Amino acid sequence: CGGARGRTTTCEATDAEVDPTEIYQDVHISAYAGKADLIKVGAYLRKYSEPEKVRLIFEYRDAGNRVLKFYDTGWFTGFWDPSWRLYEDERAIPATCIKVRIRLMWGYKKGGSNDNAMTDAYVQVHTIEEVITSESIVHSCNVKISYQLSSFAENNDLLTCPNCGMGLGVEGIRGSEEIVEEEEEITSVLITCAKCGSQLKLTISVSIPEKNTEQYCPVCGEPAD
Ligand SMILES: [Zn+2]
Ligand SMILES: [Zn+2]
Repeated sequence: CGGARGRTTTCEATDAEVDPTEIYQDVHISAYAGKADLIKVGAYLRKYSEPEKVRLIFEYRDAGNRVLKFYDTGWFTGFWDPSWRLYEDERAIPATCIKVRIRLMWGYKKGGSNDNAMTDAYVQVHTIEEVITSESIVHSCNVKISYQLSSFAENNDLLTCPNCGMGLGVEGIRGSEEIVEEEEEITSVLITCAKCGSQLKLTISVSIPEKNTEQYCPVCGEPAD
């Protein structure tokens, strides 16, 4: 996170539940759909000795609550480690992931107690900046139209030609459509009709080639090219 392009965001937890041997917290990331590429999940764990055991799992889940990917520390047993240690997972966000479940699991023998602890769990997503590019198209009304296109698909809509009012046939940022005024560069060439031998003068648009349509010999009607 914190790379050259983009920024790092810490999400708010939205719900939490407890059961006897496990506590988990879901962090929803659907607001970043299509706008983030990497995710980093971490938590600090303090582990005490056997007979206690502790385990940390991060699950990347979809809207149907299916686990798409996960990170699992496995069970920590048989040692005494009073310092806080960071466990962290960083990966590309799975395509349909909408939330991360942070699970802390623990166990201890009857009559014992649990002194394991977790703190400062976090989820960070690396967001992608929107990129807007300028595009242009020559509409069927023969006018060149410029418009802006967003790299975020949901910011683009079907556009309308500001010259003729018909659909432009492309998507872009609505309201960005503009008529491009330009000097048309025209050239003319002399050709000889292949069928009747007439000398023909063809006028060709160099700057707006879309304006050029098939021409026919005015003497014999053959296509002139
Ligand atoms: Zn038009
Ligand atoms: Zn001809």
